[in-house]
Amino acid sequence: MRKISIFGSTGSVGRSTVSLVQRHKSAYEILALSGCSNVELLAQQARDLRPNFAVIADENRLDELCRALEGSGVSAVGGREALLEAAELPVDWFMSAIVGIAGLEVSLKAAGSARVLALANKESLVCGGFLLKRICAENGCTLIPVDSEHSALFQIFEAVNYDGIENVFLTASGGPFLRSPIEQLASVTPEQAANHPNWNMGTRISIDSASMFNKAMELIELKELFPIEWRKFQVLIHPQSLVHGIVSFVDRGMFAQIGPTDMRHPISVALNWPERREQGLQPVDLTKLGPLEFERPDVSKFPALEQAELVMELGGLAGAVFNGAKERAADLFISRKIRFTEMAEIVGKVLNRHARRVSGKQSQFDLPAVRSADLWARSVFDEIAGTP
Ligand code: NAD
Ligand code: MG
Repeated sequence: MRKISIFGSTGSVGRSTVSLVQRHKSAYEILALSGCSNVELLAQQARDLRPNFAVIADENRLDELCRALEGSGVSAVGGREALLEAAELPVDWFMSAIVGIAGLEVSLKAAGSARVLALANKESLVCGGFLLKRICAENGCTLIPVDSEHSALFQIFEAVNYDGIENVFLTASGGPFLRSPIEQLASVTPEQAANHPNWNMGTRISIDSASMFNKAMELIELKELFPIEWRKFQVLIHPQSLVHGIVSFVDRGMFAQIGPTDMRHPISVALNWPERREQGLQPVDLTKLGPLEFERPDVSKFPALEQAELVMELGGLAGAVFNGAKERAADLFISRKIRFTEMAEIVGKVLNRHARRVSGKQSQFDLPAVRSADLWARSVFDEIAGTP
């Protein structure tokens, strides 16, 4: 039996992961499941999958979780310390699907004790790529990306090597405002921004998709994952979300990966790697597809894409600064304190201030440095936005 843990099991990626595991329950021994505040769902998952531990990150909900798990034989634990301790339990496979910077330390702990780290939490690579890769290398932990585009490229690079690559294309649906005139963006609401046309995801990543902050994060994630010069990366808008990644070569040949628009597919690739398993997903019927469209993004409408280039150019802690600023931006936009367009405007200013304060390239850093870069970015964001 394979020992596994699923962190962030109550979220969108987490629920999809649980559903795949439920199909083949007898193949797995579950060590830990984690959630943050949804006690009811966490308890329901724990009663079904019988992990050794159910971890609730919000300590104030622990009593509630204990009551919900009474008599189940599952140990309920709570709080940040308990979360990090549970992340260190040795497993064959670990799903890191907490949202935001809160997932970074969990990924770092897991990289130190898991054999395979399935990484949905893109913030781990964007903010702490250097640390995460070092811990993986030291512990022989295999890192498998779960983000659909990176999973696509991971699958392509299993078939081809890195020689002769001309470009790596990162596809993007374009989000809900792809066809909206730029003048309208200042007045869109959080509800409109969270309404993604193709993917059913958590609120934060949906809003990040509307602003293309998500694609910007994915460019940086791509740079951290694969040994390819980042200037070869190109974002391609592909509204059908069927082609998830494309690699072109100097001889003009191309490889593209097509898969269902369903996160259970990339999760399944990571869960079963290096094998493949039938998971009950709907097949992609090529004969029923309409035209597949590809176009270049409008960077004046989505400045986050150029900001990602500056982050990749700067390296070091620029990813942590970028992520901290854009997380703060999303929080303030969701609470209607800033406009949609102000998110990228102010993130750009925070990033420029960071670029002015760093001298030379800093490629190595530790976790406290990531934390202080994150806090610095949030406070500079507030200062520029004029919010407390
Ligand atoms: P979500 O908001 O649906 O779920 C987040 C999970 O994290 C929940 O289980 C929640 O309880 C937990 N969590 C939140 N804050 C926490 C904290 N402070 N401490 C501990 N746990 C906390 O998010 P999601 O959409 O599933 O995304 C998870 C990660 O996967 C993100 O990094 C996202 O960018 C990435 N991702 C998601 C998708 C998708 O389709 N949803 C696709 C690709 C990548
Ligand atoms: Mg993605």
